[in-house]
Amino acid sequence: MFLLLAKKKGSASGTFSICAPRFRATLLNMRVDLNGKAIRLVQDDITRVQMDAIANAANRALVGGGGVDGAIHRVGGPSLMAELNIIRAREGGCPTGSAVATTAGLLPARYVFHAVGPIYRDGNANEAELLASCYRSCLQLAEQRAVRRISFPSISTGVYGYPLDKAAPIALQAVYGHLMEQQHTVEEVTFVLFDERTYRAYERALQAKTLAEWR
Ligand code: ADP
Repeated sequence: MFLLLAKKKGSASGTFSICAPRFRATLLNMRVDLNGKAIRLVQDDITRVQMDAIANAANRALVGGGGVDGAIHRVGGPSLMAELNIIRAREGGCPTGSAVATTAGLLPARYVFHAVGPIYRDGNANEAELLASCYRSCLQLAEQRAVRRISFPSISTGVYGYPLDKAAPIALQAVYGHLMEQQHTVEEVTFVLFDERTYRAYERALQAKTLAEWR
């Protein structure tokens, strides 16, 4: 039921480690197969990775910001903000834990799902549920659009200050729960993690999750 395909470059197969890089020589990646579906981790820039849909870490006002949001708007072009302006005028923005969809402009995808992660305070302000809800909201938008492959950045772990080692298992659990439900169309979820520190946190969390499922 649960097959791990992470391999070390040049090694035989089967153990937890890092796959041979697919995109550029220095990049890390890992893949876990789940009943014909998959969770992937890659270290890369999310604006460069071809997908059906890309999730963004946006803010409640949907006004654009720095970090991954800035990169997505820069590469996607002005059509994204034009669509967000219409959504903002209609709905006043997007609540924390939820997401709205636009088309993807010049990005290598059909859609962008702008999710609003929680600002981390002390862990007692419902942050974990709100963070999980971001991922679930994007996956719901994906299902409504028959998306098969979607990428996520590490939502809330930049400017919003969510500790990486707490955020990574929440993100992975939300995605895992979705992929394990048979009726869904999403087949492959890729976490595109910008730096090695973030990648390693997700790698640790995915290995722990995989080992827990095997027991
Ligand atoms: P938040 O406000 O939700 O914390 P940030 O954009 O500040 O969002 O950071 C979220 C994560 O996105 C961080 O791990 C940051 O390093 C990462 N990030 C920034 N630029 C990119 C990019 N181009 N591709 C993928 N991840 C990115």
